[in-house]
Amino acid sequence: MTPQANIVVIGTGGTIAGQGNAASNTAAYRCSVLGIDDVLGAIPQVSALANLRAEQLLQTGSENFDNRHLLAIGTRVAELLEQRDVDGVVIAHGTDTIEETAYFLHLTLKSIKPVVVVGSMRPPSAMSSDAALNLYDAIAVAAHPSSRAIGTLVVANEEIHTARDVVKNNSFKIEAFGSPYGPLGYVIEGRPRYYRHPSRTHTVATPWSIDALDTLPQVDIVYGYGALEAQTVRDIAARGRGIIYVGTGNGNVAAHLIEPLRDAARRGVVVVRASRTGSGIVLHNGAQPDDEYGWLTVEDQIPAKARILLSLALTRTDVAQELQAAFEHY
Ligand code: GLU
Repeated sequence: MTPQANIVVIGTGGTIAGQGNAASNTAAYRCSVLGIDDVLGAIPQVSALANLRAEQLLQTGSENFDNRHLLAIGTRVAELLEQRDVDGVVIAHGTDTIEETAYFLHLTLKSIKPVVVVGSMRPPSAMSSDAALNLYDAIAVAAHPSSRAIGTLVVANEEIHTARDVVKNNSFKIEAFGSPYGPLGYVIEGRPRYYRHPSRTHTVATPWSIDALDTLPQVDIVYGYGALEAQTVRDIAARGRGIIYVGTGNGNVAAHLIEPLRDAARRGVVVVRASRTGSGIVLHNGAQPDDEYGWLTVEDQIPAKARILLSLALTRTDVAQELQAAFEHY
């Protein structure tokens, strides 16, 4: 008999730790109230998948997560992955920002051991909750050797997604997770099946290590629209080291906002054009003369993950070409 993998399940809150008054409460319930021991205790079937240890790291909705939460999660996961008797880690997480935490781990962990971030759209108390199966599947994925060396994963609805691509794209439905290029694979009857692997650089091959990070530079996201006032853009640009400007279509910038964003770039604030559309490529020097204006572009990344990537890139360089290269490589 093959020895079981040792998996640590970290609780951070979210709907997967939520509770409603009635089973019919699929969307109205209290978040982040059940401890991870109770969540796991309700799924005795998981003991057939792995030797499990649970720990409660946080107990809050992921809408509250700031850079310190990301650093705290990353630091703890890295400590666990260094332990010889830990084969993988599962993080139970609110679904709202699962894609950001997962991407941050994908870029900063220095281990090939599987790390899976999982949440649920309905609390365990609800009718047809996705909590039990999502967590069961996440543990199955983390425990399986085929999940090693492919970066941080997000499991939902029997699908395995790479942290780089996965996006929450619905506010209430169970089918709320998708990747623009499709999932990496499926998990069925407690076994993952992969059909492709991430092609972009991650984990051990990136220049960022969670061990070397104490803080992250402030990068803000500005959602663009024609009625957005120039002064608002100037005010936001005065605060941090970078701005992800979420333009319409292929990253278009309203005419009256070009000068405030050019000013920001002249003052050393990194301006990156992104798109409101949710998918597709923002072509460098396409809709705008980026090189002339000193702006960068996200390539195909969504604004929330572009913020994470730019924050990390700024810990190592201020050079525009090197920052742009990060968007082409990760
Ligand atoms: N407050 C929750 C969160 O942590 C709601 C979303 C969920 O977990 O499904 O993101």
